[in-house]
Amino acid sequence: MSDSCLFCRIAAGDIPAEIVYSTDSVVAFRDLNPQAPTHVLVIPREHHANIGELGASDPTLAGDLIAAAAVVAEREGLGEGWRLVFNTGPAAGQTVFHAHGHVLGGRSLTWPPG
Ligand code: 5GP
Ligand code: ZN
Repeated sequence: MSDSCLFCRIAAGDIPAEIVYSTDSVVAFRDLNPQAPTHVLVIPREHHANIGELGASDPTLAGDLIAAAAVVAEREGLGEGWRLVFNTGPAAGQTVFHAHGHVLGGRSLTWPPG
């Protein structure tokens, strides 16, 4: 747990968030600035800087994260389809350097867009 990490502090309950799912190893909460009708962030409780570092150092925990994303999608009624996004590194738009997956759904998400 890092006092200077926003998502460590959310996982610890120091900073409020709308938590939708939680286990011993992961926490899922609604994004403050949603980009889709459903936009939930899934994070490991333990600090890892990004999904690449998490997958390399603890693949079981990375698997927990993906399994939790699927539970969230099911609970949010996203049976039609959903997307799990891991922005990794500043050039990819990562702004919070605690690994997190974005669960997005509830609107058309075809790829490539347009
Ligand atoms: P990234 O850009 O690093 O992939 O995603 C970070 C996400 O965290 C953004 O979508 C942003 O809206 C969200 N976010 C930033 N600060 C907070 C916060 O304090 N609470 C919540 N719930 N989401 C946040
Ligand atoms: Zn952290």
